[in-house]
Amino acid sequence: MKRTQTFLAILLVVLAVSALLPVISSAECAHTYSWITTKEPTCSSYGTQKGTCTKCGATAVRQISYGDHNCNEPTCEKPGVCKTCGRTIKPKLGHSYGAPTCYSRGTCSRCGQENPHGSYTSHKFTTGSCVNTKKCYVCGYDTGKYGGHSMQPATCTKPSTCSLCGTTSGSTAPHQFQNGRCIVCGRRDDLINSLPDDDM
Ligand SMILES: [Zn+2]
Ligand SMILES: [Zn+2]
Ligand SMILES: [Zn+2]
Ligand SMILES: [Zn+2]
Ligand SMILES: [Zn+2]
Ligand SMILES: [Zn+2]
Repeated sequence: MKRTQTFLAILLVVLAVSALLPVISSAECAHTYSWITTKEPTCSSYGTQKGTCTKCGATAVRQISYGDHNCNEPTCEKPGVCKTCGRTIKPKLGHSYGAPTCYSRGTCSRCGQENPHGSYTSHKFTTGSCVNTKKCYVCGYDTGKYGGHSMQPATCTKPSTCSLCGTTSGSTAPHQFQNGRCIVCGRRDDLINSLPDDDM
């Protein structure tokens, strides 16, 4: 009676334990681990992963090599520095100044800063006229100075006249008589009295 009870007790324990154990024993398992990251790597420290065998439940730990630096993008004036380790990873870019003009000493194509060491080019002025001031046709800077008149030559009917503003200069030119009449205005030559009356 007592032996039977003992045997049953042992049997129960064995059954209970074997129910908990997987079918394959850990020793002969070609483990297939499922890894989870237990510590993220940084640029200056290893990370760790814990693996659990999907077949036998055995566990293992492995290291993950250093991660990338957590670096901000460099700008014209600031280098790329890792937020984790503080090291300068990427050098600053430096400004990329464009060509200077009469109104800009050269502007950086990245940040828009004007080159403090640059120099302006000279203005490019229009010739101007008596009605238009001389201006820079690049930046529009106005000198306030007018150009000269566009004087047309004098004729027998009007003195030398500016074609733009109408200003006159001097006096009319002499008539150009041919055969007693001016070929420009048609006036009769008073000096020739023998000419017959206008029959036109
Ligand atoms: Zn296994
Ligand atoms: Zn770093
Ligand atoms: Zn810049
Ligand atoms: Zn200009
Ligand atoms: Zn004029
Ligand atoms: Zn005339």
